Amino acid sequence: MYTAVLRQRMKSTKNRYSANSCRQDSNSETNEEENGELCPGFKDVDAFVKYGLGAVLSATKASAGLPQAGDEYDFYRSFPGFQEFCESQGDGLLRCMSQIMQHHGCRSHVRDQNKLTGLEERFDLVVDSNDVILERAGILLDEADGVNRNQQPVMPAGFQPPKIVVSSWNRKGPGSGSRSETFRLLHAKNVTRPQLKFKERIDNSNTPFIPKIFIKPNARKPLPAYFTNKQIRKERPEDLDVPAALADLIHQQRTQEHVDDMFAHPYQYELDHLSTQEKLLSKPEPQMYKPMAETKFSFIDSLEDLVALNEKLCKLSEFAVDLEHHSYRSFLGLTCLMQISTREEDFIIDTLELRSEMYILNEAFTDPSIVKVFHGADSDIEWLQRDFGLYVVNLFDTHQASRALNLARHSLDHLLKHFCSVDSDKRYQLADWRIRPLPDEMVQYARTDTHYLLYIYDCVKVQLLDFNHSQPGLLQSVWNKSKDISLKKYVKPIYTEESYLELQRKQKKSLNTQQLTAFRLLFAWRDKLARQEDESTGFVLPTHMMNKISEELPKEPQGIIACCNPVPPLVRQQVNELHLLVQQAREMPLLKAEIAAQKTKGLTPIKKPEVMLFGPHDTSRVSESDLLHLSPGELPVKQGMLFSEDEHKMDVDVQKTSGLLAPAKITLFQEVEKKDAQKSLSVAQMKARQITESFQNPFRMYLPSKDVHVNKNAKFDPSSKIFEISKRWKLQSIEQQQKEMEAKKKAKEEAKEQARKATEERNKAKQSYQESLQNVATVRQQAAESAKSGGKKRERVDGEVGELTPKPSKKLMKSAEKPQKTEATPQESFKPFDYSQSDLRVFAGTKSKDSTQFDPNRQDEGFKKKKFPKGQKNNSAAGNRSMSFLAGKSDRGFRHNWPKR
Ligand code: AMP
Ligand code: MN
Ligand code: ZN
Repeated sequence: MYTAVLRQRMKSTKNRYSANSCRQDSNSETNEEENGELCPGFKDVDAFVKYGLGAVLSATKASAGLPQAGDEYDFYRSFPGFQEFCESQGDGLLRCMSQIMQHHGCRSHVRDQNKLTGLEERFDLVVDSNDVILERAGILLDEADGVNRNQQPVMPAGFQPPKIVVSSWNRKGPGSGSRSETFRLLHAKNVTRPQLKFKERIDNSNTPFIPKIFIKPNARKPLPAYFTNKQIRKERPEDLDVPAALADLIHQQRTQEHVDDMFAHPYQYELDHLSTQEKLLSKPEPQMYKPMAETKFSFIDSLEDLVALNEKLCKLSEFAVDLEHHSYRSFLGLTCLMQISTREEDFIIDTLELRSEMYILNEAFTDPSIVKVFHGADSDIEWLQRDFGLYVVNLFDTHQASRALNLARHSLDHLLKHFCSVDSDKRYQLADWRIRPLPDEMVQYARTDTHYLLYIYDCVKVQLLDFNHSQPGLLQSVWNKSKDISLKKYVKPIYTEESYLELQRKQKKSLNTQQLTAFRLLFAWRDKLARQEDESTGFVLPTHMMNKISEELPKEPQGIIACCNPVPPLVRQQVNELHLLVQQAREMPLLKAEIAAQKTKGLTPIKKPEVMLFGPHDTSRVSESDLLHLSPGELPVKQGMLFSEDEHKMDVDVQKTSGLLAPAKITLFQEVEKKDAQKSLSVAQMKARQITESFQNPFRMYLPSKDVHVNKNAKFDPSSKIFEISKRWKLQSIEQQQKEMEAKKKAKEEAKEQARKATEERNKAKQSYQESLQNVATVRQQAAESAKSGGKKRERVDGEVGELTPKPSKKLMKSAEKPQKTEATPQESFKPFDYSQSDLRVFAGTKSKDSTQFDPNRQDEGFKKKKFPKGQKNNSAAGNRSMSFLAGKSDRGFRHNWPKR
């Protein structure tokens, strides 16, 4: 559903874009604006959005109708005509996508033509572009909000009617009712949480669902005592006034004898003994539906009306039912509406309002002499049980009928078209059904779902009998299938220690021990939070973001933020908690095979380490895959010699210390093998060396002479005698210092000249390198650009806007979310000093080194207290900010103790 929403939002953005381009293309017809037309054919934004959503919906449907991957697809694929068609359509789609991406300043093609990685890259590209486009849409919507630009919709605690959002663009032009409604629909930010007014607390506890029923109308077998005895029923272990463990025990014993009843279907017996009445197997005379306009409609939101409706229904022989549901801002989901149509009338029940009273409908719903017609009742049956304790006896599912008839498609809108010639559009299917008062358009849509259903019921019955030469077999099979559906029991999502594996397997990505640990911890975190806050897990942390965090294991909280776009409010709120979880995952020792796998991967383009070793401020490495694009002779110039050139060293380190993940690339505090370095110096390195030599150690006067770096140029200066003196461990005299200053100046000038030349060379190389990468400015850079020009609408976490990398690896960039300020600045300000040649070992004293680093002990304290069960020791030896990670003893034993009952 989330993807559907994404798709929808993306498409609507796209449509907005094409609307713009329409306008640009037809500059000569600029008076269209004056005509009040947004773009040719559309009188306003609403009209355009309606059209756009319709188009998206039909496209989505069409795509769902394509042959499935696997046998079916392969079979079709064996026909050249199909193959050709697919290819041309595919090309068209890619072109279209590419245009959209280009319009939004996203990278629209991948340089990497590698067949193996190409697809993945392209997919990433689409995901990135989606992010950018959605982000932009979000920014624009925020902007349109004007008055209401809070990151997080604030849910008022009271029962306020939803406010109409005042926005700059929906204020434009003459205001119409539908205008604001459409806007609310798209941007239903201000919906009051209906949960707030529920009489009965929502039970998100990690315990199996127990039916809500307490009165059983139409019973042939009485309701077990467990359900009728309110006391056992309502009692929860946590309500007992004894210690938790004891409460559990008492509760268990009290309920044990009821266990079988508790989890049985309350109408199992009645359904098992339900036989289809003769008249329901005979051919009916289809009874035409009344035109909607002439049909009485009632919106039911009071108990009185509900009772009256129930009485009405009990007198009928059939009625049609449908539900509308909301799942994003609730853990288990909420049934928001119930539509009921009789042959004469349409009803819509506000089930948010009457949630605790809906059970009275069981009288009609479980009456075996009344047929309840649903279309695709699978979910409805579960929702009825979950929210209202309602059951259905004598169900007819037109979806099952459609299947039995082997119709082209089995959706309701297809049946509507087929039997009623009604063009329904399912565009409100995913609307936020919590909205109150219910806009007229949504009422109309909801009514349509049941209004024609009894006529369709007649028609399919006729066809099912005709299909089978008036033999009732096929029709009977539909009744049976429908009965099976009404026997379905609602099952509450239960969190177990293995739940995450089920989801992880679906991701089709292999994760190493650390990544999998992160996935497990994040999964538990979001499940717990979702239950607690009564939000969907998708709202707390969408799975794709959870994947990304697990894969990248960000070292910093900002890195976690960077994995999410847009950042879910609860992630932002609890980023430190999340960070601790990721840290905990990073401390898991990698299996030998995983380290080995990384090493072998190191021979070919290293991809995994790239991902794993990501640090938001680590600009040291240019993605290996990027190097592949360079012509053979062309060497990329890395940004800054601060970092070691030697990639292989990492592997050695990894080998030496089994748990070491990312050795420091900074050589500032390391000894450099001077001899080796001197032996084989490349031209660039020589130049760099010269530059280095110009560097004057500010502490030289305090150093023993042998450690004083002697300037090559100064040696030829007459005043260079001073070094003789300094060699004898003496501080320089003021006079000497002055003389030296002169020498230094001179030397500096020469060195500067050399440095300038070197820089020039370097920049040249860099420029050509950059040129080769010109088209691959990452989407995030672009997004940041546009976000900035858009006035920086969105709040960003400090550190998100970082320094820039010349051509950061895709993965790095994606997660780092480092917007580029300007292309030129960093190159110009770039000073290629290699301080490593200067002796700076003095700085490497443990104290000063640590001061720039994360203090693991401090963190350990909090960490231990917070996350580790008693008796377990957290041996984290490494800080999160350091570039290297020592995996101390693991906390393999760590298990989520939650939830207990
Ligand atoms: P319907 O029976 O078509 O009216 O759908 C009932 C409810 O199911 C809707 O209110 C939605 O919450 C949900 N629903 C239907 N179709 C979809 C879909 N394609 N994706 C996600 N949710 C859906
Ligand atoms: Mn339905
Ligand atoms: Zn519906």
